[in-house]
Amino acid sequence: MGDKEIKIDNISIDSRNIKQGDLFIAIKGENFDGHNFVIDAFNKGASVAIVSEDIDSNIEDTLIKVEDTTKALQDLAHYYRNKFDVTVVAVTGSTGKTTTKDMISAVLGMRYKTLKTAGNFNNEIGLPLTLFRLDSSYEAVVVEMGMRALGEISLLAKIAEPDIGVITNVGVAHIEILKSIDNIAKAKSELIATLKEDGVAILNGDDDKVRDMDRLTQAEVINYGLKEYNKVRATEIKSLQNDTISFELVIRDNCYKETVTLPVPGRYNVYNALAAVAVGLSLDISLKEIIDGLSSFKLTKMRNQILTTKDGVKIINDTYNANPASMRGAIDTLVDIGEGRRIAVLGDMLELGEIAITEHQNIGIILAKRGVDYLFTYGELAAYIGKGAKDGGMNTSSIYIYQDKEKLIKKLLDIITANDTILVKASRGMKLEEVSQALLED
Ligand code: ATP
Ligand code: MG
Repeated sequence: MGDKEIKIDNISIDSRNIKQGDLFIAIKGENFDGHNFVIDAFNKGASVAIVSEDIDSNIEDTLIKVEDTTKALQDLAHYYRNKFDVTVVAVTGSTGKTTTKDMISAVLGMRYKTLKTAGNFNNEIGLPLTLFRLDSSYEAVVVEMGMRALGEISLLAKIAEPDIGVITNVGVAHIEILKSIDNIAKAKSELIATLKEDGVAILNGDDDKVRDMDRLTQAEVINYGLKEYNKVRATEIKSLQNDTISFELVIRDNCYKETVTLPVPGRYNVYNALAAVAVGLSLDISLKEIIDGLSSFKLTKMRNQILTTKDGVKIINDTYNANPASMRGAIDTLVDIGEGRRIAVLGDMLELGEIAITEHQNIGIILAKRGVDYLFTYGELAAYIGKGAKDGGMNTSSIYIYQDKEKLIKKLLDIITANDTILVKASRGMKLEEVSQALLED
């Protein structure tokens, strides 16, 4: 290893994005091994590379060899985060993380220069990369933390050292690995357990498992939700004609009540917005600024996007991902904003382990109860949504079960007419955006 002092401008793990003077870290991923791209990175101008394997002796001077390059990335990110006097807000939970993160950053952006996780960069690699985007001009950063197993949020929290921790809810996402809802709650609660005494825990007070996490911390706790004991609360929720949601924002002990209109559909978004209000209040942002921030926020792609085809068919494109809670939320949206016939095009919800069949059937029962007019299913598990719908009383001639996406699209195009509203939703692996795309292109 050389002993030169080298100034690094940027850190990257993707040799395609390397610029002159960057540090390249060779990470072994599921599909690629960064060690195969070290030479590429140097050719593109990298000044140093961190590796865990021998590469080529000609470049030894500028190689730093470590045991575990992912850990090096994380340690560097933690060191880098602490170089700045910046407020770190971390968001985790089973659903609504990205949306809540985006709403929080819209609120904080009213007062502070705010950085946020891009898209869904919420894991042990994405979080460090987000922190590397900090510079001294930023006053706040909002990071999303995702997890599949116990200990992962703990690790992310050690890297980011958040001042404020937000938990959206605890549901059955990733239950295949974690086995029980209590384990899922425990995994999320790691964020709250790591908060410092002068930190703030923002907890969904309507979710018992989340509310209980206040026992794990000395930090200040702010509860939000619809129930009366919450400090930040919503009443009189209304789904409006123009695909927006409005509610009365009530702050306990403050005699405050004001109408808020969110520029998105979906009643569950009221919860996401309340979390953002609580973060705003804890950072001394005025209620007026908070409300202005919320009204300007934009959803990240493929989450609950409302699209209209040239024939006037409305599509709720919620194909980014799905689990039972978000399916229920999306069905609410379909019922709320649907004008003509309401059609649900649903695919498998993955990673549910042994409760998968029951959870799919339950979704079918809900569709039947809510009076959804047609159901199209795609995938082996989604077929059980069809079974549930039938058991729940939906007319069998309105239920179409497919294992072939092309055939599903063909039939769907056959039956839709202007004014129909179509919800398209499934887990990421099902790539159901292809259905939305086909409808738009037809
Ligand atoms: P991921 O685990 O994939 O990162 P996430 O937790 O970031 O997901 P979002 O991307 O914000 O969640 O939302 C995914 C979908 O979940 C939305 O499109 C919507 O259908 C639904 N959703 C969002 N917020 C909530 C909520 N608070 N409760 C229930 N469903 C929600
Ligand atoms: Mg997300």
